[in-house]
Amino acid sequence: MSDRASDVAIVGGGLIGAWTAFFLARRGHSVTVIEKGLVGAQSSGVNFGNLRLQGRFPGQYPLSLRSQALWEDFEALIGEDCEFEQTGHLYLAYDEAEQAKLEGYASVSESYGLAIERVGPAELRRRWPWLGERAVAATFSARDATANPRIATPAVARAAARLGAVIRENTRVTAVDRAGDGFALTLADGTQLSCGALVNCAGAWALDIAERFGETAPVFPAGPPQFVTEPFPYAIGPSVQAIDGSVIFRQIPRGNIILAGYPRTAADPEANRAPVPPAKTLAAMRALARVAPILAHCHVIRVWSGIEAYLPDMIPVIGPSETAAGLFHAFGFCGHGFQIGPGVGLCLSEMIVDGATQTPLEPFSIRRFRQAATVSEKFRKEFD
Ligand SMILES: Cc1cc2nc3c(=O)[nH]c(=O)nc-3n(C[C@H](O)[C@H](O)[C@H](O)COP(=O)(O)OP(=O)(O)OC[C@H]3O[C@@H](n4cnc5c(N)ncnc54)[C@H](O)[C@@H]3O)c2cc1C
Repeated sequence: MSDRASDVAIVGGGLIGAWTAFFLARRGHSVTVIEKGLVGAQSSGVNFGNLRLQGRFPGQYPLSLRSQALWEDFEALIGEDCEFEQTGHLYLAYDEAEQAKLEGYASVSESYGLAIERVGPAELRRRWPWLGERAVAATFSARDATANPRIATPAVARAAARLGAVIRENTRVTAVDRAGDGFALTLADGTQLSCGALVNCAGAWALDIAERFGETAPVFPAGPPQFVTEPFPYAIGPSVQAIDGSVIFRQIPRGNIILAGYPRTAADPEANRAPVPPAKTLAAMRALARVAPILAHCHVIRVWSGIEAYLPDMIPVIGPSETAAGLFHAFGFCGHGFQIGPGVGLCLSEMIVDGATQTPLEPFSIRRFRQAATVSEKFRKEFD
Protein backbone atom coordinates (compact mmCIF):
# COMPACT_ATOMS: atom_id res chain seq x y z
CA MET A 1 0.00 0.00 0.00
CA SER A 2 1.38 3.42 -0.88
CA ASP A 3 0.69 6.50 1.14
CA ARG A 4 1.51 9.88 -0.37
CA ALA A 5 2.62 12.30 -0.38
CA SER A 6 4.39 14.96 1.49
CA ASP A 7 6.69 17.58 0.14
CA VAL A 8 8.90 16.70 3.09
CA ALA A 9 9.15 13.68 5.39
CA ILE A 10 10.97 14.06 8.70
CA VAL A 11 12.31 10.98 10.47
CA GLY A 12 12.41 11.70 14.21
CA GLY A 13 9.93 13.62 16.34
CA GLY A 14 12.46 15.18 18.71
CA LEU A 15 12.95 18.91 19.11
CA ILE A 16 14.76 19.19 15.76
CA GLY A 17 12.04 17.35 13.84
CA ALA A 18 9.23 19.28 15.52
CA TRP A 19 10.76 22.72 14.83
CA THR A 20 11.61 21.78 11.22
CA ALA A 21 8.01 20.66 10.68
CA PHE A 22 6.71 23.87 12.27
CA PHE A 23 8.72 26.17 9.98
CA LEU A 24 7.97 24.13 6.84
CA ALA A 25 4.24 24.02 7.59
CA ARG A 26 4.26 27.75 8.29
CA ARG A 27 5.54 28.28 4.77
CA GLY A 28 2.73 26.17 3.33
CA HIS A 29 4.62 22.94 2.70
CA SER A 30 3.06 19.55 3.33
CA VAL A 31 5.15 17.74 5.91
CA THR A 32 4.94 14.43 7.75
CA VAL A 33 6.90 13.69 10.93
CA ILE A 34 7.42 10.00 11.63
CA GLU A 35 8.33 9.13 15.21
CA LYS A 36 8.95 5.57 16.38
CA GLY A 37 7.73 6.35 19.90
CA LEU A 38 6.19 9.51 21.29
CA VAL A 39 7.12 13.03 20.25
CA GLY A 40 9.84 14.48 22.49
CA ALA A 41 10.29 11.32 24.55
CA GLN A 42 14.01 10.79 23.90
CA SER A 43 16.86 13.29 24.44
CA SER A 44 14.60 16.24 23.67
CA GLY A 45 12.29 15.43 26.58
CA VAL A 46 14.76 14.32 29.25
CA ASN A 47 17.53 16.89 29.01
CA PHE A 48 18.64 19.42 31.61
CA GLY A 49 16.80 22.27 29.92
CA ASN A 50 19.74 24.64 29.71
CA LEU A 51 19.73 27.31 27.00
CA ARG A 52 23.34 28.28 27.58
CA LEU A 53 25.10 30.80 25.35
CA GLN A 54 28.44 31.10 27.16
CA GLY A 55 31.19 28.67 26.28
CA ARG A 56 29.94 27.36 22.95
CA PHE A 57 31.98 26.24 19.93
CA PRO A 58 32.85 29.60 18.27
CA GLY A 59 31.49 28.64 14.83
CA GLN A 60 28.13 27.86 16.41
CA TYR A 61 27.35 31.39 17.68
CA PRO A 62 25.39 32.64 14.64
CA LEU A 63 23.14 29.57 14.88
CA SER A 64 22.97 29.69 18.64
CA LEU A 65 21.97 33.37 18.79
CA ARG A 66 19.37 32.88 16.07
CA SER A 67 18.00 30.03 18.10
CA GLN A 68 17.91 31.98 21.36
CA ALA A 69 15.77 34.65 19.68
CA LEU A 70 13.27 31.91 18.81
CA TRP A 71 13.25 30.59 22.39
CA GLU A 72 12.66 34.15 23.61
CA ASP A 73 9.67 34.34 21.28
CA PHE A 74 8.42 30.81 22.03
CA GLU A 75 4.99 31.67 23.39
CA ALA A 76 4.14 34.08 20.56
CA LEU A 77 5.34 31.61 17.91
CA ILE A 78 3.98 28.39 19.34
CA GLY A 79 0.95 29.59 21.31
CA GLU A 80 1.92 27.70 24.47
CA ASP A 81 4.26 28.26 27.39
CA CYS A 82 7.39 26.08 27.82
CA GLU A 83 8.50 27.50 31.20
CA PHE A 84 11.13 29.59 29.40
CA GLU A 85 12.99 31.69 31.96
CA GLN A 86 15.84 34.09 31.35
CA THR A 87 17.68 33.00 34.47
CA GLY A 88 21.19 33.86 33.30
CA HIS A 89 24.12 31.46 33.52
CA LEU A 90 26.96 31.68 36.04
CA TYR A 91 30.26 29.98 35.17
CA LEU A 92 32.63 29.44 38.10
CA ALA A 93 36.43 29.10 38.13
CA TYR A 94 38.34 27.66 41.09
CA ASP A 95 41.98 28.39 40.10
CA GLU A 96 44.02 30.53 37.72
CA ALA A 97 43.98 28.03 34.86
CA GLU A 98 40.19 27.83 35.05
CA GLN A 99 39.99 31.61 35.25
CA ALA A 100 42.00 31.85 32.00
CA LYS A 101 39.60 29.36 30.37
CA LEU A 102 36.63 31.44 31.53
CA GLU A 103 38.22 34.56 30.08
CA GLY A 104 38.72 32.76 26.74
CA TYR A 105 35.03 31.78 26.65
CA ALA A 106 34.00 35.31 27.59
CA SER A 107 36.02 36.97 24.82
CA VAL A 108 34.56 34.62 22.19
CA SER A 109 31.02 35.29 23.44
CA GLU A 110 31.64 39.04 23.42
CA SER A 111 32.98 38.93 19.87
CA TYR A 112 29.50 37.70 18.89
CA GLY A 113 27.78 40.52 20.78
CA LEU A 114 26.89 38.77 24.05
CA ALA A 115 27.16 40.83 27.25
CA ILE A 116 29.38 38.95 29.73
CA GLU A 117 29.94 40.24 33.27
CA ARG A 118 33.20 39.37 35.06
CA VAL A 119 32.48 38.79 38.73
CA GLY A 120 35.21 38.75 41.39
CA PRO A 121 35.09 36.74 44.65
CA ALA A 122 33.65 39.47 46.90
CA GLU A 123 30.93 40.40 44.43
CA LEU A 124 30.15 36.70 43.93
CA ARG A 125 29.45 36.20 47.64
CA ARG A 126 27.41 39.40 47.82
CA ARG A 127 25.13 38.54 44.90
CA TRP A 128 24.87 34.78 45.47
CA PRO A 129 25.52 34.29 49.21
CA TRP A 130 24.76 30.57 49.07
CA LEU A 131 27.98 29.98 47.04
CA GLY A 132 30.91 28.34 48.83
CA GLU A 133 34.07 30.28 49.61
CA ARG A 134 36.39 28.75 47.05
CA ALA A 135 35.48 30.25 43.64
CA VAL A 136 38.13 32.73 42.49
CA ALA A 137 36.24 34.19 39.52
CA ALA A 138 33.05 33.90 37.55
CA THR A 139 31.35 35.12 34.41
CA PHE A 140 27.64 35.82 34.21
CA SER A 141 25.61 35.97 31.00
CA ALA A 142 22.14 37.39 31.64
CA ARG A 143 20.69 36.30 28.29
CA ASP A 144 21.20 32.59 28.98
CA ALA A 145 18.00 30.83 29.92
CA THR A 146 16.23 27.59 30.74
CA ALA A 147 13.07 25.89 29.52
CA ASN A 148 11.17 22.74 30.43
CA PRO A 149 12.17 19.99 27.97
CA ARG A 150 9.21 17.80 28.91
CA ILE A 151 6.74 20.30 27.50
CA ALA A 152 8.68 22.14 24.77
CA THR A 153 8.80 19.54 21.96
CA PRO A 154 5.17 18.34 22.22
CA ALA A 155 4.07 22.00 22.18
CA VAL A 156 6.06 22.68 18.99
CA ALA A 157 4.65 19.52 17.37
CA ARG A 158 1.10 20.58 18.27
CA ALA A 159 1.74 24.00 16.72
CA ALA A 160 3.08 22.32 13.56
CA ALA A 161 -0.02 20.09 13.44
CA ARG A 162 -2.29 23.14 13.74
CA LEU A 163 -0.52 24.47 10.63
CA GLY A 164 -1.25 21.22 8.78
CA ALA A 165 1.78 19.00 9.53
CA VAL A 166 0.99 15.31 9.97
CA ILE A 167 2.59 13.83 13.09
CA ARG A 168 2.71 10.03 13.13
CA GLU A 169 3.72 8.66 16.51
CA ASN A 170 4.49 5.01 17.31
CA THR A 171 5.56 4.54 13.68
CA ARG A 172 9.09 3.37 12.93
CA VAL A 173 10.75 4.01 9.59
CA THR A 174 12.38 0.71 8.66
CA ALA A 175 13.81 1.57 5.24
CA VAL A 176 14.47 4.58 3.05
CA ASP A 177 15.07 4.34 -0.70
CA ARG A 178 15.49 6.63 -3.65
CA ALA A 179 12.29 6.98 -5.72
CA GLY A 180 12.76 9.20 -8.77
CA ASP A 181 14.12 12.50 -7.49
CA GLY A 182 12.42 11.94 -4.13
CA PHE A 183 12.36 9.18 -1.52
CA ALA A 184 10.19 6.21 -0.54
CA LEU A 185 9.98 5.40 3.16
CA THR A 186 8.92 1.99 4.42
CA LEU A 187 7.17 2.04 7.78
CA ALA A 188 7.10 -0.81 10.31
CA ASP A 189 3.57 -1.85 9.27
CA GLY A 190 4.73 -2.23 5.65
CA THR A 191 3.14 1.02 4.47
CA GLN A 192 5.13 3.12 2.03
CA LEU A 193 5.29 6.89 2.16
CA SER A 194 6.74 9.01 -0.60
CA CYS A 195 8.20 12.47 -0.29
CA GLY A 196 10.21 15.04 -2.18
CA ALA A 197 12.75 15.98 0.51
CA LEU A 198 13.78 13.94 3.54
CA VAL A 199 15.10 15.16 6.88
CA ASN A 200 17.14 12.72 8.94
CA CYS A 201 16.89 13.94 12.52
CA ALA A 202 16.63 10.53 14.13
CA GLY A 203 18.94 11.38 17.04
CA ALA A 204 21.18 8.55 18.19
CA TRP A 205 19.57 6.33 15.53
CA ALA A 206 20.35 8.62 12.57
CA LEU A 207 23.22 6.58 11.12
CA ASP A 208 20.76 3.94 9.85
CA ILE A 209 19.52 6.46 7.30
CA ALA A 210 22.85 8.14 6.50
CA GLU A 211 24.50 4.79 5.82
CA ARG A 212 21.78 3.74 3.37
CA PHE A 213 23.08 6.58 1.21
CA GLY A 214 26.78 5.76 1.65
CA GLU A 215 27.54 8.33 4.34
CA THR A 216 28.73 7.81 7.86
CA ALA A 217 29.94 9.53 11.01
CA PRO A 218 31.62 8.07 14.12
CA VAL A 219 28.60 8.41 16.41
CA PHE A 220 28.97 7.49 20.08
CA PRO A 221 25.67 7.17 22.00
CA ALA A 222 25.84 8.43 25.59
CA GLY A 223 24.14 10.64 28.13
CA PRO A 224 25.08 12.78 31.15
CA PRO A 225 23.60 11.71 34.49
CA GLN A 226 20.73 13.93 35.72
CA PHE A 227 19.31 14.27 39.21
CA VAL A 228 16.49 16.11 40.92
CA THR A 229 16.32 16.86 44.63
CA GLU A 230 13.48 17.45 47.04
CA PRO A 231 12.15 21.04 46.88
CA PHE A 232 13.57 24.00 48.88
CA PRO A 233 12.45 27.62 49.15
CA TYR A 234 13.40 29.31 45.90
CA ALA A 235 16.81 31.02 46.22
CA ILE A 236 19.29 30.09 43.50
CA GLY A 237 18.32 32.15 40.42
CA PRO A 238 20.78 31.44 37.59
CA SER A 239 22.01 28.15 36.15
CA VAL A 240 25.34 27.53 37.86
CA GLN A 241 28.18 25.58 36.28
CA ALA A 242 31.66 24.72 37.51
CA ILE A 243 33.90 25.20 34.49
CA ASP A 244 35.68 21.89 35.17
CA GLY A 245 32.36 20.27 34.22
CA SER A 246 31.94 18.47 37.56
CA VAL A 247 28.45 19.87 38.14
CA ILE A 248 25.80 22.13 36.69
CA PHE A 249 22.61 22.94 38.58
CA ARG A 250 19.55 25.14 38.58
CA GLN A 251 16.52 25.56 40.79
CA ILE A 252 13.08 25.52 39.27
CA PRO A 253 10.43 27.87 40.72
CA ARG A 254 8.67 24.86 42.34
CA GLY A 255 11.84 24.57 44.45
CA ASN A 256 13.55 21.39 43.26
CA ILE A 257 17.23 21.50 42.30
CA ILE A 258 17.99 19.87 38.96
CA LEU A 259 21.64 18.91 38.56
CA ALA A 260 23.81 17.16 36.03
CA GLY A 261 27.09 15.43 36.78
CA TYR A 262 29.95 14.16 34.66
CA PRO A 263 31.45 12.19 33.04
CA ARG A 264 28.80 10.95 30.66
CA THR A 265 27.89 7.26 30.48
CA ALA A 266 27.59 5.14 27.33
CA ALA A 267 23.96 4.47 26.39
CA ASP A 268 22.33 1.69 24.37
CA PRO A 269 20.03 2.94 21.59
CA GLU A 270 19.00 -0.61 20.58
CA ALA A 271 17.78 -1.54 24.05
CA ASN A 272 16.71 2.10 24.63
CA ARG A 273 18.63 2.27 27.90
CA ALA A 274 20.62 5.16 29.42
CA PRO A 275 22.00 3.94 32.75
CA VAL A 276 23.09 6.10 35.70
CA PRO A 277 25.67 4.16 37.77
CA PRO A 278 24.97 4.85 41.49
CA ALA A 279 28.52 6.20 42.05
CA LYS A 280 27.66 9.11 39.76
CA THR A 281 24.90 10.26 42.10
CA LEU A 282 27.39 10.42 44.98
CA ALA A 283 30.03 12.20 42.84
CA ALA A 284 27.51 14.77 41.61
CA MET A 285 26.26 15.46 45.15
CA ARG A 286 29.84 15.94 46.37
CA ALA A 287 30.49 18.39 43.51
CA LEU A 288 27.24 20.22 44.33
CA ALA A 289 28.20 20.53 47.99
CA ARG A 290 31.58 22.07 47.04
CA VAL A 291 29.89 24.75 44.93
CA ALA A 292 26.85 25.37 47.14
CA PRO A 293 27.43 24.06 50.70
CA ILE A 294 23.85 24.86 51.73
CA LEU A 295 22.77 22.00 49.45
CA ALA A 296 25.20 19.48 50.99
CA HIS A 297 22.51 17.54 52.80
CA CYS A 298 19.67 17.65 50.30
CA HIS A 299 18.15 14.43 49.03
CA VAL A 300 18.04 13.25 45.44
CA ILE A 301 14.55 11.95 44.68
CA ARG A 302 15.04 10.78 41.08
CA VAL A 303 17.88 10.06 38.64
CA TRP A 304 17.79 9.62 34.88
CA SER A 305 19.78 10.13 31.70
CA GLY A 306 19.09 10.00 27.95
CA ILE A 307 20.45 8.75 24.66
CA GLU A 308 22.30 11.40 22.70
CA ALA A 309 24.63 11.01 19.70
CA TYR A 310 28.14 12.42 20.30
CA LEU A 311 30.78 13.00 17.63
CA PRO A 312 34.55 13.13 18.23
CA ASP A 313 34.87 16.86 17.53
CA MET A 314 31.89 17.59 19.84
CA ILE A 315 29.94 19.45 17.15
CA PRO A 316 26.85 18.19 15.28
CA VAL A 317 26.16 17.20 11.70
CA ILE A 318 23.76 19.70 10.13
CA GLY A 319 23.18 20.18 6.42
CA PRO A 320 22.60 18.52 3.07
CA SER A 321 23.73 15.00 2.32
CA GLU A 322 26.81 14.78 0.12
CA THR A 323 25.47 11.77 -1.77
CA ALA A 324 21.68 12.16 -2.11
CA ALA A 325 20.10 15.41 -3.32
CA GLY A 326 17.04 16.25 -1.23
CA LEU A 327 18.30 14.48 1.91
CA PHE A 328 19.23 16.66 4.91
CA HIS A 329 20.94 15.47 8.08
CA ALA A 330 20.71 16.97 11.58
CA PHE A 331 22.09 14.70 14.31
CA GLY A 332 24.95 14.25 16.77
CA PHE A 333 24.15 17.26 18.92
CA CYS A 334 26.73 16.26 21.56
CA GLY A 335 24.66 17.43 24.54
CA HIS A 336 23.97 20.93 23.15
CA GLY A 337 21.01 20.42 20.84
CA PHE A 338 18.23 21.74 23.07
CA GLN A 339 19.56 25.30 22.84
CA ILE A 340 20.14 25.28 19.08
CA GLY A 341 17.08 23.14 18.22
CA PRO A 342 14.77 25.96 17.05
CA GLY A 343 17.54 27.53 14.95
CA VAL A 344 18.41 24.18 13.37
CA GLY A 345 14.75 23.67 12.42
CA LEU A 346 14.59 27.14 10.89
CA CYS A 347 17.83 26.65 8.90
CA LEU A 348 16.71 23.23 7.63
CA SER A 349 13.40 24.71 6.46
CA GLU A 350 15.29 27.48 4.63
CA MET A 351 17.67 25.02 2.97
CA ILE A 352 14.73 22.91 1.82
CA VAL A 353 12.48 25.74 0.62
CA ASP A 354 15.01 28.39 -0.50
CA GLY A 355 18.00 26.18 -1.29
CA ALA A 356 20.18 28.07 1.23
CA THR A 357 20.22 29.57 4.70
CA GLN A 358 21.76 32.85 5.87
CA THR A 359 23.32 31.08 8.88
CA PRO A 360 26.82 29.67 8.29
CA LEU A 361 26.64 25.90 8.71
CA GLU A 362 29.78 24.82 6.87
CA PRO A 363 31.62 23.56 10.02
CA PHE A 364 28.76 21.08 10.58
CA SER A 365 28.88 19.31 7.20
CA ILE A 366 28.93 15.50 7.25
CA ARG A 367 31.75 15.86 4.70
CA ARG A 368 34.26 16.24 7.52
CA PHE A 369 33.91 12.53 8.33
CA ARG A 370 35.09 11.36 4.91
CA GLN A 371 38.51 11.23 6.54
CA ALA A 372 39.25 9.61 9.88
CA ALA A 373 37.90 11.86 12.61
CA THR A 374 40.14 13.84 14.94
CA VAL A 375 39.14 13.12 18.52
CA SER A 376 38.95 16.37 20.51
CA GLU A 377 40.41 16.68 24.00
CA LYS A 378 36.92 17.62 25.21
CA PHE A 379 35.54 14.33 23.85
CA ARG A 380 38.29 12.27 25.52
CA LYS A 381 37.59 13.79 28.93
CA GLU A 382 33.82 13.63 28.91
CA PHE A 383 33.10 9.90 28.89
CA ASP A 384 33.93 6.87 30.94
C1 LIG B 1 20.46 13.87 29.79
C2 LIG B 1 20.68 14.93 28.74
C3 LIG B 1 20.84 16.26 29.12
C4 LIG B 1 20.99 17.24 28.14
N1 LIG B 1 21.02 18.56 28.51
C5 LIG B 1 21.02 19.53 27.56
C6 LIG B 1 20.95 20.90 27.92
O1 LIG B 1 20.83 21.26 29.08
N2 LIG B 1 21.00 21.84 26.92
C7 LIG B 1 21.11 21.49 25.61
O2 LIG B 1 21.17 22.38 24.75
N3 LIG B 1 21.11 20.18 25.23
C8 LIG B 1 21.06 19.21 26.16
N4 LIG B 1 21.07 17.89 25.80
C9 LIG B 1 21.09 17.56 24.38
C10 LIG B 1 19.69 17.67 23.73
O3 LIG B 1 18.72 17.06 24.55
C11 LIG B 1 19.72 17.01 22.37
O4 LIG B 1 20.83 17.48 21.64
C12 LIG B 1 18.48 17.28 21.56
O5 LIG B 1 17.33 16.97 22.30
C13 LIG B 1 18.52 16.46 20.28
O6 LIG B 1 17.26 16.53 19.66
P1 LIG B 1 16.92 15.54 18.46
O7 LIG B 1 15.58 15.92 17.96
O8 LIG B 1 18.06 15.52 17.51
O9 LIG B 1 16.98 14.08 19.11
P2 LIG B 1 15.92 13.18 19.88
O10 LIG B 1 15.18 13.93 20.91
O11 LIG B 1 16.67 11.95 20.31
O12 LIG B 1 14.89 12.81 18.75
C14 LIG B 1 15.16 11.87 17.74
C15 LIG B 1 13.89 11.06 17.56
O13 LIG B 1 14.03 10.19 16.44
C16 LIG B 1 13.21 9.07 16.69
N5 LIG B 1 13.63 8.00 15.76
C17 LIG B 1 14.86 7.41 15.69
N6 LIG B 1 14.88 6.49 14.72
C18 LIG B 1 13.64 6.48 14.16
C19 LIG B 1 13.03 5.73 13.10
N7 LIG B 1 13.73 4.80 12.41
N8 LIG B 1 11.73 5.96 12.81
C20 LIG B 1 11.02 6.92 13.48
N9 LIG B 1 11.56 7.65 14.49
C21 LIG B 1 12.84 7.45 14.81
C22 LIG B 1 13.51 8.76 18.16
O14 LIG B 1 12.49 7.95 18.74
C23 LIG B 1 13.58 10.16 18.76
O15 LIG B 1 12.36 10.57 19.36
C24 LIG B 1 21.00 16.88 26.76
C25 LIG B 1 20.89 15.54 26.39
C26 LIG B 1 20.72 14.57 27.37
C27 LIG B 1 20.56 13.14 26.95
